[in-house]
Amino acid sequence: MIPFLDMKAPYEELREELDAAVNRVVSSGWYILGQEVEAFEQAFADYCGAGHCIGTANGLDALHLALRAMDVGPGDEVIVPSNTYIATWLSVSQCGATPIPVEPIATTYNLDPERIEAAITARTKVILPVHLYGQPADMDAILAVARKYGLRVLEDAAQAHGARYKGRRVGAHGDVVAWSFYPGKNLGALGDAGGVTTDSAELADRIRVLRNYGSRVKYVNESQGYNSRLDPIHAAVLQVKLKHLDAWNARRAALAQRYIRELADTGLTLPEVPSWAEPSWHLFVVAHPQREALQRQLDKAGVGSLIHYPIPPHKQEAYGGEQDGVDRFPLASRMANEVLSLPLGPHLQMSQATFVAESIRRWAGER
Ligand SMILES: *Cc1c(COP(=O)(O)O)cnc(C)c1O
Repeated sequence: MIPFLDMKAPYEELREELDAAVNRVVSSGWYILGQEVEAFEQAFADYCGAGHCIGTANGLDALHLALRAMDVGPGDEVIVPSNTYIATWLSVSQCGATPIPVEPIATTYNLDPERIEAAITARTKVILPVHLYGQPADMDAILAVARKYGLRVLEDAAQAHGARYKGRRVGAHGDVVAWSFYPGKNLGALGDAGGVTTDSAELADRIRVLRNYGSRVKYVNESQGYNSRLDPIHAAVLQVKLKHLDAWNARRAALAQRYIRELADTGLTLPEVPSWAEPSWHLFVVAHPQREALQRQLDKAGVGSLIHYPIPPHKQEAYGGEQDGVDRFPLASRMANEVLSLPLGPHLQMSQATFVAESIRRWAGER
């Protein structure tokens, strides 16, 4: 059996270091914010090449607080990808603002900079690209549109820890960058966790206050904030795992290269990587019109696979559900119908990836 993602192996590999980190926090008697959180924030800001990092309770809050810090509220519009995990849209809706979907580039799954201008109105405040599956979006092109219209840019980097755009790590290309440290992400905690990076001291300060009840000094509240703090126990775990992130991403990249080589002539649509992109390979996503049959075949061979994501946000009941008539985001709908994520992670063996590829080749040959 080849699991889609082995969640226990990362702990087994780092057991001693992780146990020591957790025990350090447990025995310290200090359980909210404090030096463990500050140490991780400093380390992650340095890693990303960003001026500041602010830990939050999860990735959705990181997005939401970043939008709040940029004064996004009722009546405002935020440009979002039509194909993304629903958290991207929800962060906008939670501000009382409206997510305005824009279709992706079909070959890279990322926000198409050439379609953004048509979606901009007088109410548009922010462009919110997602580095989907760990592949960076075309930031220079997106930033050029933002500059032309005086808009801010918030990046959803929940899948892109360590990814590089034109040689520079994701983390401070736009005004603010939101991160998730959900356990299954490339840099994952042992529970929910998130954070924001930015070069702006002003935005960093606003987010820092917002995540802690709108308070800078205990019991003095300057704004109606939230309780969204990164737990010290996760901060200690993340300090350990950050040191292994590049090595683990390199293992993912090697497996991805193997898949790309072995699946070249199978009729599957493979991920296309622009020359300026170095993905974090959070997911290895293939596409095929007979996706269900392929998934059944893999299942029979004992290979785990998942669909990211089976229903696009605009068809979710949360956003009005399936509407009659024309589908306004057919690319997002097609992707939802055709994509399949293959097993990939730092603890997948090369021989296992080869077995997965062989199973797919056999299926393609029999059709
Ligand atoms: C995981 C994820 C989020 C949300 O992160 P949580 O920590 O689960 O709240 C947001 N956007 C994308 C693209 C994600 O993959």
